[in-house]
Amino acid sequence: MDSAYELGPVNANRLCLDFANLPYTSGDPLAHQTSWLELVDFLAEKGVISGSRSEELRELTKTDPKAAGTLMRQAERLGNALRLVFSAMMRGQNLEPEHLAPINAILAITEGHDELQQDDACGWKLGFRARHQGLEWLLAAIARSGAELIAEGAKSGLQQCSNPRCQLLFYDDSKTHRRRWCSMALCGNRSKVAAFARRHGGEKARAHHA
Ligand SMILES: [Zn+2]
Repeated sequence: MDSAYELGPVNANRLCLDFANLPYTSGDPLAHQTSWLELVDFLAEKGVISGSRSEELRELTKTDPKAAGTLMRQAERLGNALRLVFSAMMRGQNLEPEHLAPINAILAITEGHDELQQDDACGWKLGFRARHQGLEWLLAAIARSGAELIAEGAKSGLQQCSNPRCQLLFYDDSKTHRRRWCSMALCGNRSKVAAFARRHGGEKARAHHA
């Protein structure tokens, strides 16, 4: 058994899948609204933004609520598009260009060019100058990760947790390709407990009838 997902929180193994999982908790079929702070914490936890940037962004709903609202809507659109596309891929359906459009829209903001920039030691380094400077950049790594997974195709190891109530997705990169649960400690354990209860309940019922 692979130990990487046995304990601890759910690890989907891909940034885009962790992001698509954000509105869901293990074993719960209902989505919840992602809050601004959840989004910022997610970006910090995944290393998309630095600690100081996340402190700054946490305040954005007060300092620039309009910008925060716009990014929240873009994040939601991207998350919905990723979910839609991933579930179509898992069902072996064709992907519709309009479902991919929100992903391409975020990829489009990452255009720019390389240039020589002066570094701190008064030398020169090769840097990247983005054409757009907006907050959408915060979603670029997620869109990129999603686009890579989509380009890999449906047989790539993309899966949904085997608990029928659980909406969590993951990428099975275990050596044996037999990962079934979002987390062994959560849905894996629930399934074990349920199987034990069924057996135990069966034995009790038989004992009762004996
Ligand atoms: Zn699960």
